[in-house]
Amino acid sequence: MSAAADNAPRPQLILQGISASQGIAYGPVFLYLQSDLEVPEYQVEKAKWGAEVARFEQALLTTRQQVQRIMAEVEKNLGEEEARIFDAHLLVLEDQALIAETIREFEKTRLNIEACFDRVARRYIAAFEEIDDEYLRERGGDIRDVAQRVLGNLLGGGGGGQLLARLAEKRVVVANDISPSDAAGLDRSSALAIVTDSGSKTSHAVIVARSMKIPAVVGLRDLTTKLSPGDTILVDGYEGVVILNPAESTLFRYGQIQRQKRTQEQRLLDANRLPAVTLDGVALPLRANIEKVDEAALVKDYHADGVGLFRTEFLYLAAPAAPTEEEQYVAYRTLAEALAPAPVTIRTLDLGGDKPIASQAHLFPKENNPFLGYRAIRFCLDNTDIFKAQLRAVLRASAHGDVRLMYPMISGHEEMRRANAVLEECKLELKAEGKPFNERLRVGSMIEIPSAAMAADLLARECHFFSVGTNDLIQYLLAIDRVNDRIAHLYEPTHPAVLRTLRHIVVEAHRAKIKVSVCGEMAGDPIFVPLLFGLGIDELSMTPPLLPAAKYILRNMTLADARKLAQQALAMDSAKAIQRLCASFSEERLRS
Ligand code: PEP
Ligand code: MG
Repeated sequence: MSAAADNAPRPQLILQGISASQGIAYGPVFLYLQSDLEVPEYQVEKAKWGAEVARFEQALLTTRQQVQRIMAEVEKNLGEEEARIFDAHLLVLEDQALIAETIREFEKTRLNIEACFDRVARRYIAAFEEIDDEYLRERGGDIRDVAQRVLGNLLGGGGGGQLLARLAEKRVVVANDISPSDAAGLDRSSALAIVTDSGSKTSHAVIVARSMKIPAVVGLRDLTTKLSPGDTILVDGYEGVVILNPAESTLFRYGQIQRQKRTQEQRLLDANRLPAVTLDGVALPLRANIEKVDEAALVKDYHADGVGLFRTEFLYLAAPAAPTEEEQYVAYRTLAEALAPAPVTIRTLDLGGDKPIASQAHLFPKENNPFLGYRAIRFCLDNTDIFKAQLRAVLRASAHGDVRLMYPMISGHEEMRRANAVLEECKLELKAEGKPFNERLRVGSMIEIPSAAMAADLLARECHFFSVGTNDLIQYLLAIDRVNDRIAHLYEPTHPAVLRTLRHIVVEAHRAKIKVSVCGEMAGDPIFVPLLFGLGIDELSMTPPLLPAAKYILRNMTLADARKLAQQALAMDSAKAIQRLCASFSEERLRS
């Protein structure tokens, strides 16, 4: 790492943000400030009313062509998945309500069409910004991005986003915000890292940074206002830290950290080809969490033992209309065949809560407490046409590989029975239609609600396996909204109540001779891998890039040691102390 080419020393400033893409980078700052276009307002004379509407239609068409061009370019450079970001933009351009409202605004005010469109778009953006859910808030950013493009075309200035395409030398891009268009146009050969004032882990800039494999830190609030010309910046994407004008000693330290991290990552990747077996010879399955069929390649690249959680709602979230049984059957069958003989665990729809969907919005009432509301299996049992289409698709796919099924948000055995009754109906229908399926399809319950955990003995009688969704289970157990930043520090996976609940689930499941998997984020955190296996969990499922670290730890521990660790943790009363104990256990194994 070379030192800053600057004579006068500038004060070093350390700032904490949110880690969004891993890695360490250092270089001069390229400041990028995104600002809204100035939109003039003036009255349009009657003779030009028709032409004004035509100008709007032409701008929508031009914007559509621009977005399609960007999509093609992104698909070529980054791949199909990244290009899908712009599907949302095309949907905005086709949004009949937005278009009709703009025309209505024009008929009402007779102001120039860009002023009318700007007003309507701002109302839409404001409505999205009020939404609690991070993912949907980000979609407000899509509207803003497209709206700026349309306005750019109406005002004759083009679509913007050009600046980032021409970084003169290798630089760290520091921006107040980066729109998808900016991100797509980013000069890939010169951007060392991305740092933004705003944003979250699901922002488009982050998705692009991850796919470019460059570090990103977001949520730095007012960093862009603290910059001076000639500043340099160090980005630590592992810890979510940025250091403005780092001192020589800091650069030296980070140079060492970077070398260590690279060696460690390589060591983990090399070991990842080997089987997931502990030092005392116990094989423990490590599976993958995926959201799309094309992630099958990732499952194989990371040597996962099949899929422990396929979040099928993304088939719905990504599409303008609900996918048909046939479309789902093709998707599930493709996945099962790609990964056979490894298992593919398909979770039925988990819509509602933090995942309402535009195409089915009419089926979701507005609720005060969506996480406690009309979500997942509750929605499915109420909308059996949608539920049955999915169950039939899963059943039919089960004829082509080791397909397993599980239901989300099950509150207890009676709900499980109701879901299974619908499944039985589907089996009878398929039999009558002569369509093949696996008669012995394994069916599991996710354990995400404390009632399901407490009555695990009753629930176990109705299932072939349990899969613990710790993201939700912890949220409901500790009453901590999982998407509320303000109370995020209270979300403690090592709270004694969480450990006792996990242990209880395992004891009851094993008594009933069924297995327990964990597929929440806790399963992929290297700190918790030994603890979970020590508590008796039989398998873990995690996002594929986390598999190498989990496997490395597993291969360097004995199950006997992990059990001792869990016993010790269960006897402790401080979440923080348990966390420290687990961290030191894992770190020791990661170093060996
Ligand atoms: C969970 O709750 O832990 C889980 C895996 O499901 P999701 O994150 O999709 O709610
Ligand atoms: Mg869940």
